[in-house]
Amino acid sequence: MRRKLSTKLVHLPDLKGEAGVSGTITPPIFQTSTFAFDSAEQGGQRFAGNESGYIYSRLGNPTVNLLEEAIAELEGADEGVAFASGMAAISAVLIALVYTGDHVLVSRGVYGCTYGLLQLLQERFHVDYSLADLGTEHAVRAAVTANTKVIYIETPMNPTMELVDIAACCRVAKEIGATVIVDNTFATPVLQRPIELGADIVIHSATKYLGGHGDVIMGLAAGPRELMSKMRMTTLKDIGGIAAPFNAWLVLRGMKTLEIRMNRHSESAMEIANRIQRHPAVTHVYYPGLSSFAQRELYERQMSAAGGVIGFTLSGGYQSGIQFMNKLKLCKRAVSLGEVHTLVQHPASMTHSLIPKATREQMGIDDSFIRLSVGIEDVDDIWSDLEQALAACSE
Ligand SMILES: *Cc1c(COP(=O)(O)O)cnc(C)c1O
Repeated sequence: MRRKLSTKLVHLPDLKGEAGVSGTITPPIFQTSTFAFDSAEQGGQRFAGNESGYIYSRLGNPTVNLLEEAIAELEGADEGVAFASGMAAISAVLIALVYTGDHVLVSRGVYGCTYGLLQLLQERFHVDYSLADLGTEHAVRAAVTANTKVIYIETPMNPTMELVDIAACCRVAKEIGATVIVDNTFATPVLQRPIELGADIVIHSATKYLGGHGDVIMGLAAGPRELMSKMRMTTLKDIGGIAAPFNAWLVLRGMKTLEIRMNRHSESAMEIANRIQRHPAVTHVYYPGLSSFAQRELYERQMSAAGGVIGFTLSGGYQSGIQFMNKLKLCKRAVSLGEVHTLVQHPASMTHSLIPKATREQMGIDDSFIRLSVGIEDVDDIWSDLEQALAACSE
């Protein structure tokens, strides 16, 4: 019988007798930079690829490899690769795929540093990109060009929670021979299965829900064996943004509770979104789980629950955003998301402060926009903190 996800998460891949030890419940941390060879010939055979075995931790490490096997299994991919951060994963994957003159089609909302990377690739290497609405197949068809080699998707988008139709992007990509990459950080494999919908590569900032405890920065990619192997030998090995063994161990530990955390984050966020929606100081709530959500049909088709991130706007503009933030007592004023603590940030003064106001507003992020990452604290405790801060704004 095929094991369910919650079982797979607890029974993550195990060591296969490395270092003469097997059966540990949690894997050892192989905190070593290099691996000694029994003989010169053995070293030569390993470099030639004729004998399996470790050489140097930038080329492979047993603790890191366990995490790579785990993400491949959870996302239903052939192979996984671990990186020092989400951005190291995103840059290594994109650089492995594009050549000068290629076009990358990007969902109109993406993580700020991904946007920065696309700009760098354009300015320095003439890799073109465009941001577009990818919410319907019609829109995707209208946005691809003759040179589109990659469709890069973030869904739900940060911080407006707008959705991209993954299956529609994959249908169009197949026709034109493009590769589809999905940043699955917000949803995780518990809530959204991009590879089953036809995507080629899934990327994670494991800093967020996969790690889940706010104690590590790390990235992951999973996809077809050939491409992942090519990346290992090029943009992983030679650019060098590799994962540290201890960080891999922290993510392996965090992932054991991924499903119960995602369920709790989703339930609490649903409750908070409903309560915030009724508050007189709030003008709009962005959360896919709400019955009023604009892309309700797509949400129901693509995700099994809406996750822990909510966006909302306040009456009263920029100052009301600042005032709300300063009144919080339990919820942390912090960027990042997807962890046990409730984290709240104000994009206009924080993550999106460098983007010109007009561009930011086009992205749907006005001066009062608040991004809330609902943690696993008691939902009534979270709500009383938000409520007293909202009360201060409506005074
Ligand atoms: C945080 C984040 C990233 C970047 O990940 P790091 O681990 O901080 O490098 C990329 N994509 C999304 C959606 C994120 O939330």
